Amino acid sequence: SDKRPVTVIGLGPMGQAMAGAYLDAGHEVTVWNRTPSRADALVERGAVRAGTAEEALRANELVILSLTDYEAMYAVLEPAAHALRGRVVVNLSSDTPEKTRAGARWITGHGGVHLTGGVTVPPSGIGRPESSTFYSGPGGAFEAHRATLEVLTSADYRGEDPGLAALYYQIGMVMFWTSMLSYWQAIALADANGLKAADILPHATQTMADMPGFQEFYAARIDAGDHTGDVDRLAMGLASVEHVLHTNADAGVDTALPAAVVDLFRRAMDAGHAGDSFSSIVELMKKK
Ligand code: NDP
Repeated sequence: SDKRPVTVIGLGPMGQAMAGAYLDAGHEVTVWNRTPSRADALVERGAVRAGTAEEALRANELVILSLTDYEAMYAVLEPAAHALRGRVVVNLSSDTPEKTRAGARWITGHGGVHLTGGVTVPPSGIGRPESSTFYSGPGGAFEAHRATLEVLTSADYRGEDPGLAALYYQIGMVMFWTSMLSYWQAIALADANGLKAADILPHATQTMADMPGFQEFYAARIDAGDHTGDVDRLAMGLASVEHVLHTNADAGVDTALPAAVVDLFRRAMDAGHAGDSFSSIVELMKKK
């Protein structure tokens, strides 16, 4: 068959979903996990259990890693490093761009090929073409295995630098975590006022749904260094975020998040941006 056999190492919720997607798609799958029992259900569905990480590496050219982070990769692969030669290791564990670059050097140093992946969906999104994963690393190896990787999700190849996939992933995550915390803050404020999460859901989703319009408006201006205060002024923004802080303080809920926002606005005021757009805060955030 044209379906290539794959090895999946690391069977947390993500690795289990990945191995399962390959089984569903008719691939031969070899699995290994530090805690062997996590492989049981997959073996029942037809996966081959490797006795050791080395055996798992030797089983197939294409090796998917789904571990907590890159430290876990060294813990698993260091004792089996001599078996890395000729393997294409697709590391779908998330970590920093620097850690992924060092990991790629380590795999390459042992004669293997390293592709970095950043999966942007939870386990329930695995096996669906509408889901997407960032990839980076050697383009030839990526193209050679693209079809097999696309069994998991669609593939968004960013370039040769092994850190790129992790960088795109982290750019998404800084937005994801702060956005979701803003939602928890809204729920806490609502709760203090007798409203349930369900009560504010339509309003909350509409507020998030309005964000793309702001992103599109400010992206071109920011790249042009244009912080003209023609549609919004930082001084107005500071008054507004202070209202947000005081509303939360009056309600008796935690104020760490709104206080951090006020702090950023105040620092931009101190830097002389009162009459500029609040987009000028990005200049404060940029690397100096
Ligand atoms: P888990 O942390 O639940 O799974 C981790 C896996 O790594 C387990 O198989 C665990 O083995 C293994 N592991 C951890 N440390 C070691 C070690 N020192 N030695 C050997 N094995 C180790 O993660 P998930 O399955 O949820 O996710 C995997 C990766 O995918 C992570 O990097 C995560 O950030 C990323 N991701 C996850 C998403 C999600 O929604 N879950 C979404 C997008 C990305 P054991 O079973 O023995 O503990």
